[in-house]
Amino acid sequence: MAIKAVRGVRDILPVETGRWQRVEAAGRATFEAYGYREIRLPLFERTELFARGIGDETDIVKKEMYTFEDRGGDSLTLRPEATAGLVRAYIEHGFQVEPKPVRLYTIGPMFRYERPQAGRYRQFHQANVEALGEPSPAVDAEVVCMLMDFFRALGLEDRLALHVNSIGDAGDRAAYVARLVEYLAPHASSLCGECQARLGRNPLRVLDCKVPECQPVIEKAPSILDSLSAASAQHFDHVRGYLDAMGQAYTVTPRLVRGLDYYVRTTFEVKTTQLGAQDAVAGGGRYDGLIERLGGPADPGIGFAIGLEREAALQRLMPVARAARRAGVITELGYGARKLPRELERANKLGVAYAVIAGDNELAAGEAVLREMKTGEQRRVPFARLADELQALRSQEVSA
Ligand code: ATP
Ligand code: MG
Repeated sequence: MAIKAVRGVRDILPVETGRWQRVEAAGRATFEAYGYREIRLPLFERTELFARGIGDETDIVKKEMYTFEDRGGDSLTLRPEATAGLVRAYIEHGFQVEPKPVRLYTIGPMFRYERPQAGRYRQFHQANVEALGEPSPAVDAEVVCMLMDFFRALGLEDRLALHVNSIGDAGDRAAYVARLVEYLAPHASSLCGECQARLGRNPLRVLDCKVPECQPVIEKAPSILDSLSAASAQHFDHVRGYLDAMGQAYTVTPRLVRGLDYYVRTTFEVKTTQLGAQDAVAGGGRYDGLIERLGGPADPGIGFAIGLEREAALQRLMPVARAARRAGVITELGYGARKLPRELERANKLGVAYAVIAGDNELAAGEAVLREMKTGEQRRVPFARLADELQALRSQEVSA
């Protein structure tokens, strides 16, 4: 029997590599225009680096790392994210003597043992950008605007929403966590098992939970913005002031705490705005204190990671949806938010006539499946012909 690729891991085939190259080239051009330089980092590090850097109580460290002992008996881990390794390199090579901020970016694969599903893989790719050594809120705004410029370069900015928040510093968070626990405790029975356990260990992580049953409780949680110290509040005010001055639209989302322990003050995330689909395509934040925690100088830092798989999928489907809309076809995208049967159920409820289905296999083959909802009849259509095909179905609703 032939051996197949590992679950949750995929090949990027020649039909797709052109798109990947375009996304990567847009990243390099944007980051380098802002003065960022590329650094290439190893794919594995000492396990301790991630445990200390990302935090023992995070999902990543607790459940998602590919950790192994090598033949010499050292515990090593395939990198689940890039910041810890980049900070390790910053310290190891004495970058702190360079003019601040030290601006670095890196592009490559990350590894997380997560449940594979649409838009979630066990080996996936990120572009990471980090500005180290500069505490000014102007850098926060610069980094966020650069991220949005990257999406603009790809023509995607219309479909994306920028969410920003401040989670304060350690002191602010301690005060907030006390308020949060007071609020959550009486609701414990309405939370998922995981969140009930988090309540005792790391209550802030509850806000980051993706389980649907937890969302009503999370939505009514007290706002972390009410617990900020004067200094943290002022920092956030300045970040917003700079974003406003640059004409960058954003939403303040107080629940946005991110899944890694090293963040302080500014956090942000970019999500697709398609109805029902709340997928994050990029996220980041400030991590003052991390460099010191990893044995380096007390230099602050801020950065973000773009999920390139989600980027590539959006790149494929959104131009089709746009062309179809221009041709007068009412089109709705449900990008990766649900499993296929649920998505088709939703399409049925919406009363759409045709559904365009494009999973990993279809994307790899350069074709989508066009399904007539009433009859269940399906046929494959190459992406290049899809917009024309949909135009032929003009004035009928299509769900992609
Ligand atoms: P999510 O909320 O989707 O779990 P995250 O908060 O774990 O994301 P980060 O660790 O901040 O994500 O990584 C930044 C980006 O990397 C995410 O916004 C997403 O686009 C992408 N990403 C994260 N995990 C995966 C994965 N398993 N497969 C594909 N892309 C991923
Ligand atoms: Mg995650």
